[in-house]
Amino acid sequence: TKYVYLFQEGDANMRELLGGKGANLAEMSKLGMPVPNGFTITTEACNKYYEDGETINEEIQAQIMEYLGKLEAETGKKFGDAQNPLLVSVRSGARASMPGMMDTILNLGINDVVAKTIADKSQNPRFAYDSYRRFIQMFADVVKGLSKKRFEEIIDEVKVQRGIKDDLELTAEDMMTLVERFKEFYQAELHESFPTDPKTQMMEAIEAVFKSWNNERAIYYRRMNDIPSSWGTAVNVQMMVFGNMGEDCGTGVAFTRSPATGENKLFGEFLMNAQGEDVVAGVRTPQSIDQLKEVSPTAYEQFVDICSKLEHHYKNMQDMEFTIEGGKLFMLQTRNGKRTAQAALKIACDMVDEGLINEEEALLMVEPQQLDALLHPMFDPEALKKATAITSALPASPGAGSGQIVFTADEAKEEADSGKKVILVRLETSPEDIEGMAVSEGILTVRGGMTSHAAVVARGMGACCVSGAGDIEMHEEEGYFVVGGKRYNRGDWISIDGSTGNVYGEKIETVPAEISGNFERFMSWADKARTLKIRTNADTPRDARQAVEFGAEGIGLVRTEHMFFEGDKIKAIREMIVAKTDEQMQAALNKLEPMQQKDFEGIYEAMEGRPVTIRYLDPPLHEFVPTDPEDIKELAKEMNISYDELAQVISGLHEVNPMMGHRGSRLDVSNPGIAHMQTAAVIKAAINVNKAHPDWNIEPEIMLPLIGDLKELQYVKKMVTETADQIIAEAGVELTYHVGTMIEVPRAALLADELAQEAEFFSFGTNDLTQLTFGFSRDDAGKFLPEYYDAKIYENDPFARLDQKGVGKLIEMAVTLGRQTRPDIKLGICGEHGGDPSSIEFANKLGLSYVSCSPYRVPIARLAAAQAAI
Ligand code: ADP
Ligand code: MG
Ligand code: MG
Repeated sequence: TKYVYLFQEGDANMRELLGGKGANLAEMSKLGMPVPNGFTITTEACNKYYEDGETINEEIQAQIMEYLGKLEAETGKKFGDAQNPLLVSVRSGARASMPGMMDTILNLGINDVVAKTIADKSQNPRFAYDSYRRFIQMFADVVKGLSKKRFEEIIDEVKVQRGIKDDLELTAEDMMTLVERFKEFYQAELHESFPTDPKTQMMEAIEAVFKSWNNERAIYYRRMNDIPSSWGTAVNVQMMVFGNMGEDCGTGVAFTRSPATGENKLFGEFLMNAQGEDVVAGVRTPQSIDQLKEVSPTAYEQFVDICSKLEHHYKNMQDMEFTIEGGKLFMLQTRNGKRTAQAALKIACDMVDEGLINEEEALLMVEPQQLDALLHPMFDPEALKKATAITSALPASPGAGSGQIVFTADEAKEEADSGKKVILVRLETSPEDIEGMAVSEGILTVRGGMTSHAAVVARGMGACCVSGAGDIEMHEEEGYFVVGGKRYNRGDWISIDGSTGNVYGEKIETVPAEISGNFERFMSWADKARTLKIRTNADTPRDARQAVEFGAEGIGLVRTEHMFFEGDKIKAIREMIVAKTDEQMQAALNKLEPMQQKDFEGIYEAMEGRPVTIRYLDPPLHEFVPTDPEDIKELAKEMNISYDELAQVISGLHEVNPMMGHRGSRLDVSNPGIAHMQTAAVIKAAINVNKAHPDWNIEPEIMLPLIGDLKELQYVKKMVTETADQIIAEAGVELTYHVGTMIEVPRAALLADELAQEAEFFSFGTNDLTQLTFGFSRDDAGKFLPEYYDAKIYENDPFARLDQKGVGKLIEMAVTLGRQTRPDIKLGICGEHGGDPSSIEFANKLGLSYVSCSPYRVPIARLAAAQAAI
């Protein structure tokens, strides 16, 4: 097997093998752009490394050495050479870009001899020893896991001794001191001396990159982004170019368009006399890319030209990294840039207008999940007018966030777990903070630019972020910060506006988002492209209207029990539960019926004639009564019965395993009155609304839950049809109605051909079907699934992403069997999976008629359905 490729042997199509970074470096070389030479060790080598019990086998090692030889020949430099030494970077690069998730080592190949050579040849000893000490730091951190902090402390000690403040004031001698001190520290901590042989350094670095594929933050990032662990990472070994060699050197990052707004304008930052991560790490505040025109005009012109070529070549907004050495430009990376949802839509629409891409390509350019960010609240404009900003910084990721101050990612997690809204305030975030960032309402950083870690990650997550708020004086350890002379403590409320960069020292109310413009246009393309219909799960007219506004074409699931919790209905249902005689039971149902009817009328009105599937009462009855003795006492008084009587009824409802207990259609089999009442309410509501709006022509869709047998279905369906037919006859109207079933018990999927004799439609209740297929409940699985992820048994939560392999097989079987009996049977999915893009793709593949999801997921589902169809 070929495990190593020179850059000129690869291209952009080889991303599975070479990783995104490697494939794009190869592509840029192929396009004749200035890319330092190098080679890529494949993702297959990474997988082999794990297969072989975490060792790089001899075959791979030999190939790496062979390619190192080729690189030496190409560059005319040699590893460890006293005349013309080669230094390289060792960079990770997976198939999907995982910014900042894995580790990079620069200046590899340096040792005492090489450092001296570089110092002499460049006549710049400061540069030589600065590179050397950086290498020791990175190597110790990435390969040996020594904390970066200790090295920073050593630097600070030297600065104090020398009475200086800024790193830039460190002299060549200081750098040499640092090198020695670093090596001593390394030796003391690890009981081995720092490796002087460049080949040893390289092999260890390569292995560290392989290992970093399984570090905690990489695993977390993969789970958040549905990246399988089987992909592995590639490793790029590339000749170093130096941005830290003097004032005609520098390093920077740039986007071909604004990643925040999508504006078609080069957008980026750079630092002169700096290396690698300096720009994103926020140690010094970088300059805007426009200023490069003055600082290094030739490099700037060339860079602008390359940007435009790359964007046309990839037909997508590019995010690039470059370095300038002695006035000469080198490209170090390009990839499709991460962007906010607003930017994504603007760029997609603009590129269609520019003739660069067509509508279908535009649809594929936007991640469905991202649309979510557009649908979420913004600050109430009125409240915002009254608020005064306490400081203003970079609008790094749009959105509005209001919450209580926390200073660490751990605190953020703790407070958020306890239900608080928090804003994470940091000097600068690092990849370790990612989980804390994910649970925060927003992120505020003191340092760092628009391309800092916090900004990039926040944009990816759709979280709002304000960065580079340099006016803030942090006292993280003491738990407060000061700005404008005022002190803000841990737990105080602040608000940040990621669209303007303003920070407010108070809580500000938010209002729902407005959708228009690019969104409408873009979504209309999606609607043209898709074949799958999108319905919503809604239980109230308000949710229903919201969903229609987001583009829902019907309701796939009305959970009738949700209505029971409101106002007087809960009283009536409790009366039904405690009823001892048929008369009492009937009296309670008689109270419920008109209330239900009104609920359904409200929903029919809101949906204006769009189809609505109403599911009958589903949960076990104990959910409607209290368990706390105090509450029971109160309720008994309210219901005018004795405490003991009520307590007895309630304890009688107790079930060992309610999820598999007396619920769903089982309730109707034992209490037919419930099905009769719900049917009367549905049919009367439809008749009434049809009277008021004859053109809507509502045909009620009645769905029976948790059915597992044909006779059971027949038994309950008969209750429905008897009541419905009688009411329709009495009303003297024409009304077509449909009766269907949920498929959510595995037995129903197995016997779907039989069920289809009676069911006019199936709706896959994938939540229950998943828990019953796996045999673990949704409410308990959270306790042990993390260990399953760690052990790589399951890679993600089957309740969030449909298990196509197992549960999907049941669905597929039910689809086939159902169609055998009833070729035109209507098929849909309701449940959380209805809004998950990969599950939607699966539904599309099976040729289902619709998916149904919560209102805020409707736009996501529309786009995912379009992408599935393209
Ligand atoms: P990440 O994936 O975290 O962005 P990279 O592998 O891109 O990590 O490396 C980070 C930075 O290191 C780059 O942006 C670049 O500035 C610097 N770098 C990497 N390789 C080289 C090289 N061969 N010469 C000079 N700088 C390099
Ligand atoms: Mg990079
Ligand atoms: Mg269910």
